Amino acid sequence: CGIIGIVGNAGVAPLLVDALKRLEYRGYDSAGVATLEGGVLTRRRAEGKLRNLEALLDKDPLAGRIGIGHTRWATHGAPTVTNAHPHQSGRVCVVHNGIIENYLELRAEAAAAGLFPVSDTDTEVVALMTDLALRGGLSPVDAVAAVLPRLKGAFSLVFLFEGEEDLLVGARQGSPLAVGHGDGEMFLGSDAIALSPFTDRITYLEEGDWVVLSRQGCVIRDRSNAQVQRPESRSAIGA
Ligand code: GLU
Repeated sequence: CGIIGIVGNAGVAPLLVDALKRLEYRGYDSAGVATLEGGVLTRRRAEGKLRNLEALLDKDPLAGRIGIGHTRWATHGAPTVTNAHPHQSGRVCVVHNGIIENYLELRAEAAAAGLFPVSDTDTEVVALMTDLALRGGLSPVDAVAAVLPRLKGAFSLVFLFEGEEDLLVGARQGSPLAVGHGDGEMFLGSDAIALSPFTDRITYLEEGDWVVLSRQGCVIRDRSNAQVQRPESRSAIGA
């Protein structure tokens, strides 16, 4: 129900949780974060309130300068730790708001190729399909570009890849996603409120847009993969 992504310069785990707190108003039943800790995709997920995730992180901190976070409002699968986002398959981790309507069909396709889900969510199939594309030899960005047109439904997505310390990929179709511009760091979030601790310079993705983020900036493409410019505005919420 809420999404945050940070490609930053300090330990991002507490920043991800801080941003998720600002998205609590949307409601949620579980939460999770993933970072590249020493280059390795590492997750912490918890049922219930964000304080449960915070307690987990207090006990077992998560390092890393790049990461993604999620508050979940379950649509497919009970609000359990296994169903909490981020979902991972191989080198890819993903957070998702919305619904992937054709997940059963895609799940069968991934299974036929030997990749099986461990959760009951619609979301996990996005990680499986992207993993499949990576195993097929595509780069992370090309893998996302190949998977997005296969997804039916309303979603916003943020992808994090093992071994990619300077890359987040986001996509928007029917569920909002905003880019936050920092100084040598960049952000993705469900709305400007999530990004308000970090920056007031916001670009809203339009329907069908997807974006490649690095610390130096972003490249936005529309659904035909043409590079597009979207306006940057100053959020009234303030940093
Ligand atoms: N449909 C997904 C799930 O149930 C995402 C729900 C959400 O937007 O939080 O896991």
